[in-house]
This record gives sequence, structure tokens and C-alpha cells, in this order.
Amino acid sequence: MGICPLCNGFSELILSCPVCQNYLQDQGRLMDVFDDYSPYMPIDLMKLEDGYPHDFKNGECPHIFLCPNCGYEQVQLIKE
Ligand SMILES: [Zn+2]
Ligand SMILES: [Zn+2]
Repeated sequence: MGICPLCNGFSELILSCPVCQNYLQDQGRLMDVFDDYSPYMPIDLMKLEDGYPHDFKNGECPHIFLCPNCGYEQVQLIKE
């Protein structure tokens, strides 16, 4: 397991929504919520379904950030 600062509560990442400028909320690791999200994943993330353990093994922890205001979603790679 890595030592992602967000997973371990060491720090928070503050991102703002490019659509409405609201703050994005960390929804947790992509792996943890992937099953719930997979039917709704954008096209460019679907390719990760089979390959993400390989793509993300370089010390980066992918987190899903969601805008509670407009529903905008993005994946941010967190350096471990
Ligand atoms: Zn993490
Ligand atoms: Zn927004």
C-alpha cells in the first residue's frame, strides 16, 4: 500500500470546479468507488477498467473529485 497523503489524512487537496468555481470534494480512491461509477465513467476513463492497476502503480493514487454544485467530476492523480 502507498502512503497517499489524502488517503491517510495528512493533507487535503483543494480544487475548484472549472464549470462553476465551487470547491470539489474528494470522493475517495478511484479503486474504492469504481464499481459504483463504472456505468457513468467518461469515455477516456473506461480504458482504465482493465489496465488501471498497471497505469497507476508508479506511486500515484487516483482520487475522484466531485463538484457538489454542478456534478462535475474529475480524477486527480495524487503523488504518494
Ligand atoms: Zn489516495
Ligand atoms: Zn461545479
